[in-house]
Amino acid sequence: ENIDIISVIKDTISKLEPVYQNNVEFVTRLEVLYAEVHEQSFIQLLIVLLDNANKYSSEPIKVRLEEEGDSLKIHVEDKGPGIPLEAQPYIFDRMYRVDKDRSRKTGGTGLGLSIAKRISEQHGGYITLKSVEGLGSTFTVVLPKSEV
Ligand code: ATP
Repeated sequence: ENIDIISVIKDTISKLEPVYQNNVEFVTRLEVLYAEVHEQSFIQLLIVLLDNANKYSSEPIKVRLEEEGDSLKIHVEDKGPGIPLEAQPYIFDRMYRVDKDRSRKTGGTGLGLSIAKRISEQHGGYITLKSVEGLGSTFTVVLPKSEV
């Protein structure tokens, strides 16, 4: 499916925001952007990252969309507790959770990010994390753009 990425991001945010404790801001300079993605999977990927940002942080969340060469990049940024450097290599593994006590309070299975990684890779892309403990986390999904 050739998907209008900007509309799907906007729609997903406007459905989630009413049930979130945090505001979600969407920032992009682009006016149109299409990508060859399975729409429901792409939405699921967004939901995993937004749910985590909402769950682990209590500050506004920022979603940024940009293009770089043949790729599009979606950044989901929070100002939450961040993820310790030593945990970062495992964060996309199934069932991995950083802080068992903190996580128990917020619930979750530890599957979300492994699903996000799988969906990114199924579309010929990848997902990365930049995080500093105490400052926040930015997850970035990189996907190939459509030709048209
Ligand atoms: P769920 O499957 O419901 O999403 P989960 O949040 O525990 O449960 P993942 O989404 O895979 O599972 O996340 C794995 C772990 O990574 C989390 O338990 C949490 O410790 C950490 N984590 C994920 N996103 C963030 C974030 N935005 N800020 C801080 N820690 C995070």
